Amino acid sequence: MSCLFCQIASGEISAIVVHKAEGVTAFRDIAPQASTHVLIIPDRHIDGADAMAASDEALVGKLIHVAAEIARVEGIAERGYRLVINQGRDAGQTVDHLHLHLLGGGPLHTPLV
Ligand code: 5GP
Ligand code: ZN
Repeated sequence: MSCLFCQIASGEISAIVVHKAEGVTAFRDIAPQASTHVLIIPDRHIDGADAMAASDEALVGKLIHVAAEIARVEGIAERGYRLVINQGRDAGQTVDHLHLHLLGGGPLHTPLV
């Protein structure tokens, strides 16, 4: 298995895991772009948003639910946070395993949307 995030999900590569739910792992980004920067991934490999199947809808929805839970635990839910999925080259996707960025803990850069 060569996928970096598959290896983090299985524990073969270490990361600061902040939350484990059935089928989902959340860990701190190695190069944080905000004081809270957590990546939430499905344990099962999905290349990205473009590779999502209808049968993945519940699992991908769970990523958002877990992110909201982590935001509450981190104490940033009240002030707000941003959830981002980068898909493909133009968006800057660098790891081809679907991941949701949870960013917060202070004012974020001017939003694109
Ligand atoms: P992308 O640019 O694909 O949306 O986001 C990939 C994210 O993964 C980046 O923010 C990057 O810092 C993070 N990342 C890359 N390699 C590692 C790693 O080995 N461990 C952790 N915890 N994060 C990583
Ligand atoms: Zn993977």
